[in-house]
Amino acid sequence: MLKIGITGGIGSGKTTICKIFEVLGTPVFYADKVARQIMVEDAVLIEAVKDTFGQESYFDNGALNNKHVAAIVFNNTAELEKLNALVHPAVFRAFDSWIEQVPQHIPYVLKEAALLFESGSYKMCDQSILVIAPEVLKLRRVTERDGITDDQVRARMDKQFTDEEKRLMADHIIHNNEQRSLIAQVIELHRAFLKTTAI
Ligand code: ATP
Repeated sequence: MLKIGITGGIGSGKTTICKIFEVLGTPVFYADKVARQIMVEDAVLIEAVKDTFGQESYFDNGALNNKHVAAIVFNNTAELEKLNALVHPAVFRAFDSWIEQVPQHIPYVLKEAALLFESGSYKMCDQSILVIAPEVLKLRRVTERDGITDDQVRARMDKQFTDEEKRLMADHIIHNNEQRSLIAQVIELHRAFLKTTAI
């Protein structure tokens, strides 16, 4: 079973594209969603976060004190690296357990991760897809989706590798602009992955 990583900048359209792959029958592991889940479900990770960032990292009801943790890691690379060093391996473990549940006849799966390259997660994938969209479209889509300002979106963008850096690492590119059909590009890649696995 092939493991295909899919990534792209904030608002590039990763999730939208993964939904199309799902319609074609491809199982998708949403790493960012799983990361948020295990932050409140994985007992070992929770203890490690408390040890590193203080007991106040969680409320008494078990919810993550996002404000507290975000205040520590925001604009502090060393602290952010500490958090990533706890969360990323936990997500890798979750992916390994998830893939064991995927039926053997499935030819390939997708792993969607905003930080596929930054986290080193791409090394555990056979191939990677990068979604590229013009900045003006990403800004418009995310400000509309999340109700935030252009500057807030830009601040998030600054924390990711640029598309130019990621292009050098990606095996495939999907262009999510208003000129190219997303569905046609997804179907083309889907066929290519099926061909690879049929050999
Ligand atoms: P994030 O990194 O923030 O999670 P993402 O890369 O997963 O973002 P999406 O959530 O798929 O991006 O897309 C961002 C927004 O833009 C969504 O509201 C989505 O519906 C919209 N969108 C994405 N692609 C298109 C498109 N081709 N046409 C119209 N709307 C689109």
